[in-house]
Amino acid sequence: MRYSLCLFPLIATTALFAGEKQLLNLAGIPKEERMNVPVEYVWPENPGEAAVCLWKDDKAAAISYTIDDNCAMNIDWWLAEAGQRDMKLTWFLVTGGISNSNPKMNGEWSQWQAVYDAGHSIESHTVTHLSGASKPEWQGIEWEYGDSKQAIDANVAGNSATALAYPGGGNSAKNDPEVAQGIYIAARGTRGTINGARGLNYMSINAMSRPNIGDNPKASFSDCSRLIDPADTKAYRGWGVFIYHYIKGENMDKTREQMDFYYSNRDAFWCASFSDAAKYAQSRDTSNLEVLENSNQRIVLSLSDWMKDEYFNHPLTVKVRLPDDWSGFRARQGDGPELNTRVVEHDGARYGYVDIIPDGGQAILIPG
Ligand SMILES: [Zn+2]
Repeated sequence: MRYSLCLFPLIATTALFAGEKQLLNLAGIPKEERMNVPVEYVWPENPGEAAVCLWKDDKAAAISYTIDDNCAMNIDWWLAEAGQRDMKLTWFLVTGGISNSNPKMNGEWSQWQAVYDAGHSIESHTVTHLSGASKPEWQGIEWEYGDSKQAIDANVAGNSATALAYPGGGNSAKNDPEVAQGIYIAARGTRGTINGARGLNYMSINAMSRPNIGDNPKASFSDCSRLIDPADTKAYRGWGVFIYHYIKGENMDKTREQMDFYYSNRDAFWCASFSDAAKYAQSRDTSNLEVLENSNQRIVLSLSDWMKDEYFNHPLTVKVRLPDDWSGFRARQGDGPELNTRVVEHDGARYGYVDIIPDGGQAILIPG
């Protein structure tokens, strides 16, 4: 009896917090079934009312810088440039050659561990870039997608690969999004345009190897300045994904300019790893935020989503209209540590921002 008394709170906690739906990605879920957080900025009117922000920290748009085909000779350059601008980058690795062949290009696992430890993201670009598909002993597309994830997870401590970039090239027709959607939370596609804010196909996110920042009138489809232009009703508040390969010489200057574009607009952009943005967006699209208690003493919030809790652990930024006599607030989720909070004023009212993990337990806000 003593044992079951001890165990009971644990069991109850798990049952309460685990979301009912546990989807790996939103493939196959019609757009109209997803909860839509409005694209417009929301400022709830009454004290205690709360809203999920479209992007982390209520930023206008998201931007992700991704690097393909390993290109290990560029690692030091990328780490230095990203460090100067406080950016989080994503490498989509072809795993077959790592610590195996052509070390200059493919790199060693210890190098990729160092990249991860520096705060960047390591994801999959398959085992052979599908070049193996030309050989009779090829083990198939499931192996390309699945074994590359296993190799990354086994060799980069702390990292869990959750996203795939479909390889281009001669065997690209072997790509199979239906196989990818059984393994990954999201995939990077090959359509070279910006993404809008809503209705995204998370198993084929648009990404650009030739982005521009308002300097190519012939290519407005890949103009990333549109993402933060409130007058642009189609692109404003969307997600821009850049693709890079081996860079040298003039391309380094051009890439620096593209990184400066983020840095000089960092108040408007969330610079996210590819998988962080995909996690945030899918949790957000299916989020349900409830105010369980609303008084001057405390506000209690419950945030759930449809996504698999094991992977979808990135918090969503929630904006709360604070009671008039709260000059600041403190917040905690479940049994976790005290959360970072931020207060802003808007139209004479105070709003609090707090990051809450969906299905991670009730969040309790108190004045202070
Ligand atoms: Zn590639």
